[in-house]
Amino acid sequence: MSTCTRLLLLLASVALASANLQAKQPNILFIFSDDHAPQAISAYGSKINKTPNLDRIAKDGAVFVNSFCANSICGPSRACILTGKHSHKNGFLRNGNRFDGTQTTFPKLMQNVGYETAVIGKWHLSSDPTGFDHWEVLPGQGSYYNPDLIQMDGSRKRYEGYCTDIITDNSLSWLKARDPNKPFLLMCQHKAPHRNWSPPPRHYDLFQGVEVPEPETLFDDYSGRSDLLKENEMSIRDHFYWGHDMKFHGENLFPKHFRSGIRNGEYARMTDSQKQLWDDYYAPQNQAFIRKMNAGELSDDDVTRWKYQRYIKTYLGCIQAVDDGVGRMLDYLDESGLAENTVVIYSSDQGFYLGEHGWYDKRWMFEESLKMPFLIRWPDVIDPKTESAALIQNIDYGPTFLDLAGADVPAEMQGRSMVPMLRNQGKPSATWRDAIYYAYYENAAVHAVPVHDGVRTERYKLMFFPRSREWNLFDLEEDPMEMQSVHDQPSYAPILAGMQKRYRDLRQFYGVNSAVIPETRGDLERWRTRDATISKNAKKGNVDLAFIGDSITQGWEGRGKQVWEKHYGSRNAINLGIGGDRTEHVIWRLTHGNLGKIKPKVAVVMIGTNNTGHFDQDPQEVAAGVQRILEILAERLPETKIVLHGIFPRGPNSLDLKRLNNVAINQHIRRFADGDRVHYLEVGDQFLAPDGTISKAIMPDLLHLSTEGYERWAKALEPKLQELGL
Ligand code: CA
Repeated sequence: MSTCTRLLLLLASVALASANLQAKQPNILFIFSDDHAPQAISAYGSKINKTPNLDRIAKDGAVFVNSFCANSICGPSRACILTGKHSHKNGFLRNGNRFDGTQTTFPKLMQNVGYETAVIGKWHLSSDPTGFDHWEVLPGQGSYYNPDLIQMDGSRKRYEGYCTDIITDNSLSWLKARDPNKPFLLMCQHKAPHRNWSPPPRHYDLFQGVEVPEPETLFDDYSGRSDLLKENEMSIRDHFYWGHDMKFHGENLFPKHFRSGIRNGEYARMTDSQKQLWDDYYAPQNQAFIRKMNAGELSDDDVTRWKYQRYIKTYLGCIQAVDDGVGRMLDYLDESGLAENTVVIYSSDQGFYLGEHGWYDKRWMFEESLKMPFLIRWPDVIDPKTESAALIQNIDYGPTFLDLAGADVPAEMQGRSMVPMLRNQGKPSATWRDAIYYAYYENAAVHAVPVHDGVRTERYKLMFFPRSREWNLFDLEEDPMEMQSVHDQPSYAPILAGMQKRYRDLRQFYGVNSAVIPETRGDLERWRTRDATISKNAKKGNVDLAFIGDSITQGWEGRGKQVWEKHYGSRNAINLGIGGDRTEHVIWRLTHGNLGKIKPKVAVVMIGTNNTGHFDQDPQEVAAGVQRILEILAERLPETKIVLHGIFPRGPNSLDLKRLNNVAINQHIRRFADGDRVHYLEVGDQFLAPDGTISKAIMPDLLHLSTEGYERWAKALEPKLQELGL
């Protein structure tokens, strides 16, 4: 055979292979629920329920036992999936954010390679879905009973019945009505089993007369870990509502044990016949509980146990309906002949506490809410009953689906395609990740879970809590229930150091710069009050001069008070300083009401010294935070001139490490001066002796100014203010 013939044959076989690939673009059925913890799936070894239909996916395909979310909360997890990016990159950090639907998402890219795409059910991203040929989604959290679904024309359609069944029905209808000549992506997304757990009538009595086993850590006292755990408001013991969670009607009879205030909204939506069925089942149980309570037969722990049973049985009842729906979908794939070319995935937006640590809900980086179920069936590729321990994350879903579809995975996506690993029966290659990064941003929200982030490897988990600047380290082999942080145990010092390095490396790899990620400190009352006062004052407008910063700025109201009166008392000035703030907090405040109606002629900005008090935050990162503040001011106050101060010196002498960090930050931020709007002004020399030391007469604690210090600041600033027309 000549070389030429050989080449032609080779080309022909390449063309044939690519044509086959095209013809075989698999359908993707992505069934996704909300708050379904892996420990409530029998394929994951559940001790409390059976999920025969979910198990069908695992039995025919693979179960991933180390599947994690990037941010354990509903909206953010969905945004991570759609974009293949961590929250700080896709911009959806917290519930209540609005998803930017103009971003690159995997459904859009699948449309580009010929897929017909649809999402039906829970969406929860505020903006309308983009990238779908068909969508029909619940408004916000949606309802279990007689749900409304938003239509593509913006109208709402109410369906009578049970939400999980309706989402399944509508998904099946779409499958039957779609273009049979195109491969499909169907995202069937259930509300269930999200709070407030309301099962369908057919599953009310699923666990009647049965005591569901309690988790070992139901009575966790939160010792041995960050004290921030003790602030939680998600405990079965203290935080269930009488009506909303525990399904009682009427007034809260036992306010010591139950919260009042939120009634059972699902009951209110029910038809009379639905109410009748509900009451037939729950009323006798409720009455029996009330009788026992009134007779003094139940200890406090007994009440917690009763609440756990009420919670877990309603939660599991909701899951059973999801399992029913999965069964109907799988049956349809079988009957229609679609099964063999359809990849089926089951997942949920994050895990959930089923009484572990005494909790319900999610958010924390502990295993139960960090984990997500991930079951996948890919006929003829993944062997039945495959189990994989690879560390996968929800940012991998998009890249995986794109790879399945034969589409390119854009470099901006941070997740990785699992397809090579799936073809290799769940065994990851040597270059697959060995650690995942996690971040939770929803500070000061319900349930009082603090901002934290961290990394998890196969064996260890490191968490960082910025508010208390605390590390927690867990050895998951020795302590799988995460009851004792070992960060301060000498024998773990090398592990801690290694994990801290891993943490910094991964943050750098994913481009996490906390100095630019808007963050509230609203979980601190002092901060919350000050922030509200500033916003209230700013609403009045009539401001010519604004000072923006941290405690050094706030101190104009303390030791600087007389100086302020003298220099600014008659110049319509406002103080936007809050002690302890870093750049990310100022970014938050300026975009959450602190600018009110003010349109100052001049804004004086000094921020960043607290960023250096954080764990060695890189000066360049802090400078990016300052830059973001300048951008926000440019967007919102385009007419305002900015005096950007170099961060004041601190510490005893010029070798102080925190001072050096400020010096380095100043080297970066001085370049933000543009000769017009932004004026850089460094006045640090005013506070220093010629040898670089700081006198305690000027800075009593070597960080904050004395009255004399404020006088020097005002004098050094004055010429610039006058130059800018003040
Ligand atoms: Ca959720």
